[in-house]
Amino acid sequence: MQKKEKSFGIQMLSVQPDAKPKGCAGCNRKIKDRYLLKALDKYWHEDCLKCACCDCRLGEVGSTLYTKANLILCRRDYLRLFGVTGNCAACSKLIPAFEMVMRAKDNVYHLDCFACQLCNQRFCVGDKFFLKNNMILCQTDYEEGLMKEGYVSQVR
Ligand SMILES: [Zn+2]
Ligand SMILES: [Zn+2]
Ligand SMILES: [Zn+2]
Ligand SMILES: [Zn+2]
Repeated sequence: MQKKEKSFGIQMLSVQPDAKPKGCAGCNRKIKDRYLLKALDKYWHEDCLKCACCDCRLGEVGSTLYTKANLILCRRDYLRLFGVTGNCAACSKLIPAFEMVMRAKDNVYHLDCFACQLCNQRFCVGDKFFLKNNMILCQTDYEEGLMKEGYVSQVR
């Protein structure tokens, strides 16, 4: 699979008053504005070149657009939908960006992998979880671990 991003530049052109109006690739109407956007070898109203996801006007957002599967997207949504989030900190497999993930500090987890790594208890919204030596732990196991450590250091 290719990793290259499909990004395209957007140009803003001023329309010559005597030129034949160009058709907008977004709404198919003639562009009678003073300015138009040129992208993907097509012409667009400033309002018509929008991200399919968040509706932001792409002419204003850094003048780049991304396409994939006939969608026109801003960089943020492109990366969100088609980029890769990273490796799951529990099973270390890749997580595609369109998948829901759980995050803990800098780690990302598959939803299915986000469980206490000692007792496999899953967490519900609002449950406390702890990160220790890069392992997710439930409160019970975390506190138990702390107690054991306290015990160990007492013995020494
Ligand atoms: Zn248009
Ligand atoms: Zn967007
Ligand atoms: Zn995983
Ligand atoms: Zn646990």
